[in-house]
Amino acid sequence: MQSQPTVRQATTRPDPSRVHAEIGAPVSENSITIPADLLPKDGRFGAGPSKVRQEQIDALSAASKTILGTSHRQAPVKNLVGSVREGLSQFFRAPEGYEVVLGVGGSTAFWDIASFGLVEQKAQHLSFGEFGSKFAAATNKAPFLAASSIIKSEPGTRPAAQAEAGIDAYAWPQNETSTGVSAPVKRVAGADEGALVLVDATSAAGGLDVDVAESDVYYFAPQKNFASDGGLWLGLFSPNALDRAARIKATDRWIPDFLDLQTAIDNSRLNQTYNTPSLSTLVTLDAQVQWLNANGGLDFASARTADSAGRIYSWAESSEFATPFVTNPDERSNVIATIDFDESVDATVVAKVLRANGVVDTEPYRKLGRNQLRIATFVAIEPDDVSALLASIDFVVGKLRK
Ligand SMILES: *Cc1c(COP(=O)(O)O)cnc(C)c1O
Repeated sequence: MQSQPTVRQATTRPDPSRVHAEIGAPVSENSITIPADLLPKDGRFGAGPSKVRQEQIDALSAASKTILGTSHRQAPVKNLVGSVREGLSQFFRAPEGYEVVLGVGGSTAFWDIASFGLVEQKAQHLSFGEFGSKFAAATNKAPFLAASSIIKSEPGTRPAAQAEAGIDAYAWPQNETSTGVSAPVKRVAGADEGALVLVDATSAAGGLDVDVAESDVYYFAPQKNFASDGGLWLGLFSPNALDRAARIKATDRWIPDFLDLQTAIDNSRLNQTYNTPSLSTLVTLDAQVQWLNANGGLDFASARTADSAGRIYSWAESSEFATPFVTNPDERSNVIATIDFDESVDATVVAKVLRANGVVDTEPYRKLGRNQLRIATFVAIEPDDVSALLASIDFVVGKLRK
């Protein structure tokens, strides 16, 4: 008989019978019940969207009487956008002259926006996973730019930027979410005067330490460490990046209105967006930024994710069936841990059993094709829930190997 896992947080526990129906399930995932006292209190470990904290939902509920359903051109929503911009400046200890700019469309839209509005002639990209490669493809395809310089390395490793004459923008992800590799945010020694550093911090921002002064645009979306929903892009822009945007805008390059960075900058300065943003996304984002700042800001956030990720890596290193996919400890991410399993364990089955027990989204990045689990340790996730997840995995593997 199938006994149900204890529902400690009703919103996060899918009905196991429905999950069973969806995946069609010939495997034994429904015959393994993880004891309730081993299970994490909250079973959301996906690499994006992140677990959302209950306090963010409470903030959303409070906003349902004040902000939701009101005009984004009036003071209440503009003040909310202002609060997000100020809160992020504080959180990232924004250097003098840096501005928080935002717009609709998420990080993927920002790659096109940057291709039109930030790259003057030629970009260099580090490509060591899905996300870095997508921005590289975007500038590489732009007919008004020279072919991009693209430096690749094997998944699970990272390359380094190399100064090259004629490159005016260097771009890489601080955290390659597809592989669990993180990369330093550092200016490129020997780069041309004025060359910009564009860092995709979508899954890093709010969870990994950074000195924003080492970048010109540190951009992200709110659905990872900020535990909100997708659909917005935000970035900290240096004075040089703001100048670059204005200079390109003044040329005769055709830029689609929706992707016009100068329009986004002008609107952001008024605490607005060019078109309608999701107000609930802004509310839950603001709640997370306030929580982070009240608890000690970036130091708090980066220590918490380091604690969570450290638990996974040390567990994997001492496990007889699991190993960290990223072999160089210095390249391992503190917000996404990728764990390989040896041939005695089928990670797909482990992920299915976890899912049937309400612990979701530990599947690896599909295109990597490895016998792996990918576990997010975003800042919203409790470090003790990470430990509970590891105990649950040990339990499941023990059962499967019998
Ligand atoms: C999630 C993610 C993206 C995509 O973000 P969207 O808001 O869905 O466009 C881009 N880059 C990285 C590093 C990510 O983790």
